[in-house]
Amino acid sequence: TSGSASTLQDYAKDKLSKQMVELFEECQQQACDLTRKETCRSRLQRDIQSVFPVARLYLTGSSMSGLGCRSSDADLCLVLRGSVSGSSRSPEWEAFLEVRRRDCNRKHGYLEKIQLIRAKVPILRFREKGSGLEFDLNVNNTVGIRNTFLLRSYAYADLRVKPIILAVKKWARHHQINDASKGTLSSYTLVLMVLHYLQTLGEPVLPSLQKDYPECFNPSMEIDMIPEGPRHIPPYKSQNKSSLGDLLQGFLKYYSSTFRWDTQVISVREGKALPKNKSAEWRNKYICVEEPFERNNVARAVHEQMKFNTIKSKFAAVTPLLLTRDALTNQCLIPDLG
Ligand code: ATP
Ligand code: MG
Repeated sequence: TSGSASTLQDYAKDKLSKQMVELFEECQQQACDLTRKETCRSRLQRDIQSVFPVARLYLTGSSMSGLGCRSSDADLCLVLRGSVSGSSRSPEWEAFLEVRRRDCNRKHGYLEKIQLIRAKVPILRFREKGSGLEFDLNVNNTVGIRNTFLLRSYAYADLRVKPIILAVKKWARHHQINDASKGTLSSYTLVLMVLHYLQTLGEPVLPSLQKDYPECFNPSMEIDMIPEGPRHIPPYKSQNKSSLGDLLQGFLKYYSSTFRWDTQVISVREGKALPKNKSAEWRNKYICVEEPFERNNVARAVHEQMKFNTIKSKFAAVTPLLLTRDALTNQCLIPDLG
């Protein structure tokens, strides 16, 4: 036929696909949501800069990648250079404590429910008073700024990427397999799993952007040079015209029967599955998903056999899938058991 499909409607002729478009339109982050996050970010940055003049605060994660929904939290990365003079503690700790101290000293502090989460990458979690907006702040984990730009570039490479990822996140949340702190999959892992599937179809929906545009995703690029907006990477011209629903079902099927968890590593960087070698990163791991820049395993939180089995069973149980109107209002996908 003549042209390529150019609107989401072209990929949404069947019922499931139509419902995915509806879900997407209802749930995707709105401009006003981003503005609110941005306002809070700049206010916090100003506060922090009064103590650490060279500090910069970046919004990362789904708020910036375009893969978020209205209820997504705001991920923040605080970039500090050098150390704090006169302090024996690490600058990370100082920064965490300072954000907190400053806010508590105010008559009308704007942060609440502040807690420090001691993970491999420590996180300061808090809410903005009034809006209830949740923030996760890390210090100097700058890979998040790089990979957010990569994810954003994928989100804009094909119209279908955002609605599929949103549906997968909702599906995973509904089935309680979307919580790395509980030994299941982080949203970031799920996103990489979807991208991998779209890259490895017989007729791919996505390329490897890191291979096609190495200069844009150079892992040693200065953080300040990483573009904040969608970048001028032309959309990928895929010959694959599958509908949203077919791709969603294909995704679930791929991980329930094609992908080999025991021998393969998901590499979005390479745009293919790599054989699991004997390196410590992959050894004895149930799920191996390579971080596109640091090449470690982003799915290391899945370390219990039982949780792994639960995850696999969710993939296996979903076809045929039905997205009901009810499920939409509940913001989740319900498997059709009928
Ligand atoms: P949600 O909409 O559910 O909040 P999200 O896309 O923001 O999802 P998260 O899992 O909350 O995904 O991760 C937020 C960001 O943190 C990611 O976009 C990524 O930049 C970074 N990140 C998360 N986990 C890792 C990891 N293991 N290695 C490197 N960066 C990570
Ligand atoms: Mg997030």
